[in-house]
Amino acid sequence: MIIVTQGVKLTSTCPVCGGVLIRDVGQFIARGQLRWGIEGRCRTCPNAWCETGVGAAPEEISQALLAEHGPARLRLATKEAPLVPVLRALRETCHLSLGEARLMAADLGGGGLTGTSVEMAHLAEGLRKRSVATERVPPPA
Ligand SMILES: [Zn+2]
Repeated sequence: MIIVTQGVKLTSTCPVCGGVLIRDVGQFIARGQLRWGIEGRCRTCPNAWCETGVGAAPEEISQALLAEHGPARLRLATKEAPLVPVLRALRETCHLSLGEARLMAADLGGGGLTGTSVEMAHLAEGLRKRSVATERVPPPA
């Protein structure tokens, strides 16, 4: 099993003592699910917490990951990929409506979809389960 994970350390001011707060934020895939996590701790006071969630990461986390590691781009390996399995995979993987899945499928078959490396790996895996081949392409400059 391939473990896909990506993280970044963020520093900010501790709201409790005003010291340096370190937050380890990240995205990962566990048991086929896209997940995110935050582990925060203050360098000077006991303020510490941990938070995780399933699905799309909060904006702050995905932005931090994109800033640190850069975006990944995924597209269909062939232009002739049948639409129905693509739509099914997108709806299952990303919990989309049919309309949203159609828009995503159009991007996927055209220039490609961009997101964090973990998001794209999760999407590629969902498509692979439906026998739809994808490829990583360089992200837009
Ligand atoms: Zn503190």
